[in-house]
Amino acid sequence: MSKIKLLSFDLDDTLWHTAPTIARAEQAFYLHLQAAAPALTAKFSPKALREHRLQYLSANPGLEHHISQWRVDSLNQALIESGYGGQSRELAAAAFDVFYHARQNVQLFEHCAKVLAELSQDFLLISLTNGNADLSRLPISRHFHSHFRAEQVGAAKPAAPLFLEALRQAECLPHESIHIGDNTNDDIAGAKAVGMHAIQARLIEHAPEPHPLADLHFDDWRDLPRLIKQLNASPR
Ligand SMILES: [Mg+2]
Repeated sequence: MSKIKLLSFDLDDTLWHTAPTIARAEQAFYLHLQAAAPALTAKFSPKALREHRLQYLSANPGLEHHISQWRVDSLNQALIESGYGGQSRELAAAAFDVFYHARQNVQLFEHCAKVLAELSQDFLLISLTNGNADLSRLPISRHFHSHFRAEQVGAAKPAAPLFLEALRQAECLPHESIHIGDNTNDDIAGAKAVGMHAIQARLIEHAPEPHPLADLHFDDWRDLPRLIKQLNASPR
């Protein structure tokens, strides 16, 4: 009988390599703004716009776990500063749509889709992300029971709320679950703090060394089912 019931998955850099997707989305976002709000792009280079966004967060720290809202609100502010006062909300919403759409264009790691399909036969799969990827737009979402984002619960990993939400949904105890993710603090330390098992994904170049708290780690999706089996067979 399987002791493990729930597998929760981080998304960015666990199911796909995030940097190229974000870079493309940032590019599409800026290109859109060049056409829609030329006075803004005359005032802000892509780098200056990024810095403006970071400054906006320093002034509005409450947006930290609401990254979509943060991007919209900070752009709105930059638009106002560029003379688009009357239309800033509309322009910001349209530009965000462009970014958001491009941000969903991810390329899964090799073997990921096949392994997820396989695992979903035996376990309940739930995704937990601090980012704004929308798993429901991807074909692999059919293998997942549910998806949770930090901005929905107002708290990002490593804080407990996302992990606890997954456990609640799966109606299981922490030791009956495994969290799989790449970030040693957010995913590994966070999951271990609530008593879940944790497997560290080391799939991108220069991935962090295996964390002492990680039960196991992998650098090839094909190895994951075997590691889960191993944890399933362990006494606790
Ligand atoms: Mg990640």
